[in-house]
Amino acid sequence: MKKILLSLIILNILLITAFANSSSTFKVKIQNKDVSVKTAKVEVDGENYSKEFLPFIKDGRTFVAIREISEGLGAKCEWDGDKKSVLIKMDDKEIKMKIDSTVVYINDERKKVDKSSQPKLVLYKNPRQETKTMVPLRFISETFGYDVSWDKDTNMVKISTIKAEGIRDDSTDENTKDSKEAKKSSSSKNNGSKKSVEKDYTTNSIVKNVFQSVEEVRETKSFESKISKGGKEEAYKAVGLNIDDFKEEERVIKKKIVADGKIKIVIDPGHGGKDRGATACDNETYEKDYVLEVATKLYDKMQNTPYEILITRSRDEFIKLQDRASLSNENNAHLFLSIHFNSAPNKDANGIEVLYASEKNVKIKTVEQKYFAKEILDALIEETGAVNRGIKNRTNLIVLNKTKNVSALAELGFISNEEELEKIKSDEYIDKLVEGLYKGINSYIDKYVEE
Ligand SMILES: [Zn+2]
Repeated sequence: MKKILLSLIILNILLITAFANSSSTFKVKIQNKDVSVKTAKVEVDGENYSKEFLPFIKDGRTFVAIREISEGLGAKCEWDGDKKSVLIKMDDKEIKMKIDSTVVYINDERKKVDKSSQPKLVLYKNPRQETKTMVPLRFISETFGYDVSWDKDTNMVKISTIKAEGIRDDSTDENTKDSKEAKKSSSSKNNGSKKSVEKDYTTNSIVKNVFQSVEEVRETKSFESKISKGGKEEAYKAVGLNIDDFKEEERVIKKKIVADGKIKIVIDPGHGGKDRGATACDNETYEKDYVLEVATKLYDKMQNTPYEILITRSRDEFIKLQDRASLSNENNAHLFLSIHFNSAPNKDANGIEVLYASEKNVKIKTVEQKYFAKEILDALIEETGAVNRGIKNRTNLIVLNKTKNVSALAELGFISNEEELEKIKSDEYIDKLVEGLYKGINSYIDKYVEE
């Protein structure tokens, strides 16, 4: 009897799966009613975002499971079961929404969404019976300032997390109306031409609240578009990966690195050459020089360890992001550490943060990523006493999402902040940063590498 029951269940699962795959609609329960919804596809930064609980379209709005999309965008979410409300946080932005309500709060400011966009509790039948909190994708993405586009032939929603907030444009904000109007009229002139549809990134940008140079943004954009246009194999090759090596269904995620042979570490000073990185608030020094100083000192210090140390650049030269990832992948390095300084339009912003790309989002990773970022951050804060801005999941950076090993990117302080820049300009502080990185790497290896 048990056997029959089991095979019936298996048959049932097979039938349901077959049905789900062959159809572009599926059934869910909303407010206890059976509802048929249209399957949607979602892509974040050129990577397919297919989740176990499929996104869907209802009344012309695309809905995604809150927990999964906030992971995809690198945001945090909290669910309050009593109040039936969700809180989605990313850095300084906060969205509060309530189930079956059109009222939303963005940083405590009351706003309204249209009725078809209100969050819902949805009971899925596949891949298992489970109630999910579903939120409107476009509203969330646009509130965080991301570009959302929609391809109705394929039911594909594409989200780009690159924001075109030019830092160098800051000064023009304080200019008179005239320049703003001049800008307006020049942009409306361009509206007719095809070129204005595609954004041309001519300034540095804030991407998920992290400074990126114009060169980085351009390369990341063109890399993403290559992937989304089907050139995944070629794109993988450019970063030293073989697409056949990454089968998600065969992936096993480990907490620790198992190193056979010598531990290899890549140190990656960001920017260089024509890519100067952020310009300091003194208007005469650049991120690329500070990171090189830290990285070369760290490289020298690491020679005292038994590890093999590689460095992506040891002088002022331009190196593509893909070549940085490629160096790491082709050498089968165990650790990759990118070194940067930060910059923000808000001149008060200061402190250290360390970024990583979670293995939950980046499917080529086989080791849990956050511990490396955490060890680096803790050691840096201990050494410098700087403001602790935490570790952050940032899945849109090539050096993090196209390196197959454990990787982190340390933002060692804001050179847009006068006080922090003063410190960074001193040898003693640079030495503290180097010491912090050195201790962080060693402490990670002690705890998380098995030889
Ligand atoms: Zn940088």
